[in-house]
Amino acid sequence: MHRIAVIDKDLCKPKNCSLECIAFCPLNRDGGRCITLSDEEDRSKAIAVIDEDICNGCGICVKKCPFEAITIINLAEELEERKVHQYGQNAFRLYNIPVPKDNAVVGLLGRNGIGKSTVLNIIAGLLKPNLGRYGNGEPSWDEVIEHFRGTAVKEHLKAIAEKRIRVAMKPQQVYLIAKVFNGTARELLARYDENGSAEHYAKRLALHESLERYVNELSGGELQRLAVAVAASKDVDLYLFDEPSSYNDVYQRLEVARVINEIAGKGKSVMIVEHDLTMLDYLSDYMHILYGEPGAYGIVSDAMSTNTAINEFLQGYISTINVRFRDRAFRFESATSGEDLIMEEVVAEYTRIEKKRQGFRLVADCARVRKGEVVGIVGANALGKTTLMMMIAGVDKPDDGEFRINARISYKPQYLEQDYEYDVRTLLSEAYGKGIEGSSAEPLIVEPLRLKKMYDKIVKNLSGGELQKVAIASCLLRDADIYAMDEPSAFLDVEDRIMIARFIQRFVKGQGRSAVIVDHDMHMVDMVADTLIVFTGIPGKEGYATGTLSKRDGMNLFLKGLDITFRRDEESKRPRINKMHSRLDRMQKENGIYYSI
Ligand code: SF4
Repeated sequence: MHRIAVIDKDLCKPKNCSLECIAFCPLNRDGGRCITLSDEEDRSKAIAVIDEDICNGCGICVKKCPFEAITIINLAEELEERKVHQYGQNAFRLYNIPVPKDNAVVGLLGRNGIGKSTVLNIIAGLLKPNLGRYGNGEPSWDEVIEHFRGTAVKEHLKAIAEKRIRVAMKPQQVYLIAKVFNGTARELLARYDENGSAEHYAKRLALHESLERYVNELSGGELQRLAVAVAASKDVDLYLFDEPSSYNDVYQRLEVARVINEIAGKGKSVMIVEHDLTMLDYLSDYMHILYGEPGAYGIVSDAMSTNTAINEFLQGYISTINVRFRDRAFRFESATSGEDLIMEEVVAEYTRIEKKRQGFRLVADCARVRKGEVVGIVGANALGKTTLMMMIAGVDKPDDGEFRINARISYKPQYLEQDYEYDVRTLLSEAYGKGIEGSSAEPLIVEPLRLKKMYDKIVKNLSGGELQKVAIASCLLRDADIYAMDEPSAFLDVEDRIMIARFIQRFVKGQGRSAVIVDHDMHMVDMVADTLIVFTGIPGKEGYATGTLSKRDGMNLFLKGLDITFRRDEESKRPRINKMHSRLDRMQKENGIYYSI
């Protein structure tokens, strides 16, 4: 076996501990130098360094570190041969690399921190793979190409090295575009319009009314679609899309997916990273699973059919190589959820209400929330979903109609505030109203959401996924009867989305509380909601919300508006979008069954 030791630089704080790792490492105790402190000029910045060649993998340091900053893993020796990149000593490393395919969309499926963005950067030529030789001994391109001799990826890397391949990349963090481009959306599109299709894509992606606005005035969804349009308007060989669904509603996600499919249909190669499982399934022709330990190492599987890859990912087991990468499988019941566990007691209800503001009108039919119920809210952006949430939360009032709410409400907004200098422990304690450590809420909420390890992290340094989980925990820690959450799936990876959906269901039923959840990830809604409120209308002008419908009726109505049908995967029971005009799609539409349970 080969040993890998990874230190989380954010968590390792030698000045706040007694250097337990160094004191207890058996090799250090025998006089060796297996763990030392890094040689920083500023000693306060020093962190632990582990010599992987000496380390015997006993794991004592992992248990002794008070901040859980150390990960020690034994990996098969042969894997070393397949190392593609390592960021430094005791840092993340990637094994294997996928190959783009002509005329196809290749999807990458894996957890946050498992190396998907590293893969895209290497494939795009933005990061030269170092084969694990970081620092001064980095290999030349010739050595890299020689290393991959006899593999399919060699030709791609050779083309990258010789600049024979042109690549367009839609970055993950679209808000950074506003920091580097100081003009209007139209000007940005014009700058990169190499195939004369910018106008076409702007229209397809509903950007026509945003074109004269400055990029820094656009919403997250507009920026996302603008970035997709910019990438699609380039005339290149390979298109890479890093999380193109974020911030978009389901209508916009579907249109983005169709645009991406069209690009591949023109004979181009496309690679995509996406956490919305329904969209990734809809989009991809082939898929690679990335597995390993987030933040420590990632292994890219061979390409598989989309359905096999998703089902094996959910199983946590790759059959062709007999590798189990998760000790439990995710299985889904056909969408019955726990409707029978909802209690009769109504905790909130409203009559037919109306609210007008700045040229927008929202009308919502009467609805109610019962104890033990999770009400899902679905619909396009700008139809008044957040306005309704604010009224349920008591932050806003209707012009007409009445809310009868006999409940305390805890609200998690869509856009999360991150500008805090203090740590996660303090933020969670504030939400809880007293110290979180050692409290009864710790095993109930913090531990199941796997947040204990994050106590010492500073809030402003959290990743998007970490921040979202902390915000969900903060919402649930407040003493309330209804937990109202706007887009809890945003920035979470597939595994966390499933975990959070199940946790919310369990928490609400187990504690006799209620939840109202707005989300655009249909798999998440399918898992978490008992009943649905469906929004229709004209975005930005008028929104109409149904009363609370059964999940089957609500989904049917919503999918009908989208003109898509869902079937259930036979093995995992997850919802899958039927191919437009396929036999099943036509049959389900004829029978009015847009949502199959
Ligand atoms: Fe030392 Fe054991 Fe930690 Fe390796 S795993 S660094 S041998 S304590």
